[in-house]
Amino acid sequence: MFNVCPNCGEYAVEKIIDNSGPYTICPHCHHAHPFLMQPLFLIGGASGTGKTTVCLSLISMLKECVVLEKDILWGMVKTSPTEKYSSWSNVWLRIAKNIGQSGRPVVLCGTALPEQYACGEEANTALGYTHLRLVRPQFRGSTSPVHSILLIRTTLAS
Ligand SMILES: [Zn+2]
Repeated sequence: MFNVCPNCGEYAVEKIIDNSGPYTICPHCHHAHPFLMQPLFLIGGASGTGKTTVCLSLISMLKECVVLEKDILWGMVKTSPTEKYSSWSNVWLRIAKNIGQSGRPVVLCGTALPEQYACGEEANTALGYTHLRLVRPQFRGSTSPVHSILLIRTTLAS
């Protein structure tokens, strides 16, 4: 819905963001459409680091957000390591952007590096995001309890 201009009806992903509204500017007719700048919270980390556990806890703690697991759409989007899974991340940016227009920020849980979100066409909508990476000293097979370290990194995609 967001990528279709309400004035001319043309589809465009790459819109200019005018921070004075903020607005998005249609590249076809230059119509300024209100745009909610919502934060996007990314929770990442390798398998076994506790992403799912953290996200399940956040669902009840962050009622103002929509908490989603990236893997629910795995296999439904054509992507590959050669493109650094950017198509995959781009779909999620689009979903988060559209949910955000309803007034609720998205918490997205799944394995991805921040740069995978910065290279897709949806990154041009200038979503600010905070990336929390869960790190576990030892991988699967470890008998030690999970010790997750949160590395907080804030980036504004451009
Ligand atoms: Zn337009």
